[in-house]
Amino acid sequence: MSASYRVDLAAFSRNLQRVREAVAPAAHMLVVKDDAYAHGLIPLVVHAYAQGVRWFGAFDVATGEAVRSAVGPEARIFVWLVGGADDLAAGVAADLDLGIGDEALLDDLARLTLDGVARIHLKIDTGLHRNGIRPERWAAALERTAGLVAAGRGVLEGIWSHISEASDADDDAARAVFLAAREAARAAGLDPRFSHLAASAAGFARGEFREDLVRVGAFSYGIRPAGGPGESDLGIEPIAALVATVTAVDVAGVHLDVGSLHGLPSTLAGRFDVGTPAGPRRVEDVGLTTLAVAPWPAASPGDEIVVFGRGALHSATDLAELVDTIGEEIALRVSPTLPRLYVGG
Ligand SMILES: *Cc1c(COP(=O)(O)O)cnc(C)c1O
Repeated sequence: MSASYRVDLAAFSRNLQRVREAVAPAAHMLVVKDDAYAHGLIPLVVHAYAQGVRWFGAFDVATGEAVRSAVGPEARIFVWLVGGADDLAAGVAADLDLGIGDEALLDDLARLTLDGVARIHLKIDTGLHRNGIRPERWAAALERTAGLVAAGRGVLEGIWSHISEASDADDDAARAVFLAAREAARAAGLDPRFSHLAASAAGFARGEFREDLVRVGAFSYGIRPAGGPGESDLGIEPIAALVATVTAVDVAGVHLDVGSLHGLPSTLAGRFDVGTPAGPRRVEDVGLTTLAVAPWPAASPGDEIVVFGRGALHSATDLAELVDTIGEEIALRVSPTLPRLYVGG
């Protein structure tokens, strides 16, 4: 047996249920960028759809198309990396909800031949400066959008933004900009059906940020925030485990294949333990695709050791905190080439 990433779909169902309750009455938009945070896009999307999830946050148009093929016509699929005319045409053809943070895209929509009506979610830049329409350009963008609506080329489905979730004060200021932008849209005769600005952290902690949709990635997969509340406080659980196999035992220790082409940060060497049949053992060396662990009696090739995540001594976020980063940074080190094993479905 080689290394694998073992994903527990029953645990995923419980997290989905927990997120649904936490953000209600807003709907849960399950964010599935980065291959569903490395858990494997299609199996997770299909499972979530069967569990009742009806909004997916797919990031780019290619991912949105893949989600559409997997779940059929009923789901709403939001994408927010829209590169230009080709993306717009493909996004409309796949009936995606398009996050538009750039006026030039509205001009493109006005002149393109479209295979359907564009579902527009206009993004206001509330201060992160990570794409989005600046407040001073908002009125002009609304005017262009109204033109698209009048021409039957588009509908304004939503107003959205992204907040840092780093400090409550920053988020409050961002929300004020957001609410003003929505008021301006209404005053211009446009009535967006959906407002959304929160991700996992604000969606759980701050009721006034939930609006109609909460775009939850990390918590859906049981990845807690670094330096924040624990999994049990949040009511979530890690759903995946990196399972490594013993390849050799020698005087230097027990060697494991972790099969991860991106490697774990080498700075983790000497800083965490894995569970073995003989109790915890220190991970002494971290290579690109290997780990060396302090020896234990009767270790032998083929034995399986859980490195992090579900059933391990540490979660992805625990390891992340040791090297001053966030849990996603560790979870996304799991290479797409590592076999995924789905259990508990
Ligand atoms: C990644 C992302 C999210 C999800 O963030 P989490 O903290 O993982 O829940 C939401 N919205 C946007 C725009 C994102 O890029």
